[in-house]
Amino acid sequence: MRALVTGAAGFIGSAFVRHALGGSFPGRTEVEITALDALTYAGNMENLAPVAGHPGLSFVHGDICDATLLRSLLPGHDVIVHFAAETHVDRSIEGPGAFIRTNLVGTQTLLEGARGAGIPRVIHVSTDEVYGSIAKGSWTEESPVDPNSPYAASKAGADHIALAYARTYGMNISVTRCSNNYGPYQFPEKVIPRFITQLMNGRSLPLYGNGDNIRDWLHVDDHCRGIWQVLEHGLPGEVYNIGGGSELSNLQLAHLLLEEFGFGPEMIESVPDRLGHDKRYSLDDSKLRLLGYAPQVPFSEGLRQTADWYRENSSWWRPLLP
Ligand code: NAD
Repeated sequence: MRALVTGAAGFIGSAFVRHALGGSFPGRTEVEITALDALTYAGNMENLAPVAGHPGLSFVHGDICDATLLRSLLPGHDVIVHFAAETHVDRSIEGPGAFIRTNLVGTQTLLEGARGAGIPRVIHVSTDEVYGSIAKGSWTEESPVDPNSPYAASKAGADHIALAYARTYGMNISVTRCSNNYGPYQFPEKVIPRFITQLMNGRSLPLYGNGDNIRDWLHVDDHCRGIWQVLEHGLPGEVYNIGGGSELSNLQLAHLLLEEFGFGPEMIESVPDRLGHDKRYSLDDSKLRLLGYAPQVPFSEGLRQTADWYRENSSWWRPLLP
């Protein structure tokens, strides 16, 4: 199978490439990957270092908005797995323009290229944030899309474009919507690596508001397994939620990390809340579980492993701190 992976030098895209080339996914031993990435501040070639010499990997430094590049690059691939995006909510509040360009225009440019090249399968990777915020219960794939942040709105728009390409042109596109990911190689602006690196530098944890916002956490390896399951068994024009089943308030998360690093609650510093901060995310992923998916990494174990990875890899994250 020849796969083109966009955003392959980012946190989740690189994990997907490492797993695909490392043979962790069932059923396919021969995988060749074209890794396409614009190497924005979030893209890092070191994320692909463990598979850098793999004969099945070729890296292309390029932009998903570049239709000319896509016209020459896409033909001959069996599948596109589309991760490339601007992804940080706070940055989208500071400057939404880049999010509209990459997440909306970039996705449409990529899909148009896929249509022209007759790519047989496309996975568009999205987020639970497109559903907005939910006080009780969990979203199914039928729940209305109701995004709040510019990031979530740009992803929701991209989801609609992907589904429109499936319906209008009959393309074999599935959309995945995942809960919050954590794991190694995550850029230290995101909450778990941010907290870990703050504590490793002996600094306090900046907690938005009173820390009662709830997120559902999923290890990045489980996310990649879920995407693979959808790639192999998902249906065209369908959306699949990929949940973690580990809901925690940000305050609970802070306490777990304080315990892990041997600090007390005095290391929590309340900071003004994020504008339009979603209160709670929660996914019902029973549709994907019917395809055989279940997360395998318990949160407490995954969090400890992640903390250990950041302890052992400070040369990776120190240069990325502001
Ligand atoms: P990331 O920010 O770590 O990586 C994004 C990658 O995309 C980077 O390597 C960057 O260089 C690349 N990129 C950005 N603009 C590009 C462009 N115009 N052309 C080509 N490459 C470009 O993001 P991530 O956390 O790995 O997220 C990957 C995908 O998963 C995103 O689509 C995101 O919306 C989705 N997602 C993330 C989470 C999460 O918790 N991190 C949860 C659910 C869904």
